[in-house]
Amino acid sequence: MTIRVLDIIHQTMADGPGFRTAIYCAGCAHACPGCHNPQSWDFKGGQAVSVEELLETVKADSLSDVTFTGGDPFYQVEAFTELARRIKQETDKTIWCWTGFTLEEIQADPHLAQLLPWLDVLVDGPFILEQRDTTLLFRGSPNQRIIYLKGAPPEDAIPGTVPLVPLR
Ligand code: SF4
Repeated sequence: MTIRVLDIIHQTMADGPGFRTAIYCAGCAHACPGCHNPQSWDFKGGQAVSVEELLETVKADSLSDVTFTGGDPFYQVEAFTELARRIKQETDKTIWCWTGFTLEEIQADPHLAQLLPWLDVLVDGPFILEQRDTTLLFRGSPNQRIIYLKGAPPEDAIPGTVPLVPLR
């Protein structure tokens, strides 16, 4: 199983808290006006990288947690689910995942929802240009939510973190 990958950023501090290995995948159909990364929309962009190779890349950095972004990882949900499952079963790393879908849209679609159990935090929703707020950390517009999927956010959570949305 492979994931089309645009880039892998090592030990980034820009894609979630602390040091992270950020996997930027290719492909997004949300077409948000003002998207910061429209070159990521092409589903044939980047190159195919095996889940096994990505897992080894993640595991090779004992310091960093993991970020899935793009593009939208939920358009390659099966392969990302396999990668996330292996990361959670074989390491103690946290996984943050950015998506243009809302949590509710993902929950309503069993195909998309297969990834949720393996994520720690979902940053959800499309970027809305009219609501752009450059003061927000890790989000472009305030409709996007930082949702802790495995329990209450920590006391030092990022400002703007919403209370946990209960999973149905
Ligand atoms: S979801 Fe993200 S990558 Fe996709 S169009 Fe919207 S801002 Fe761009």
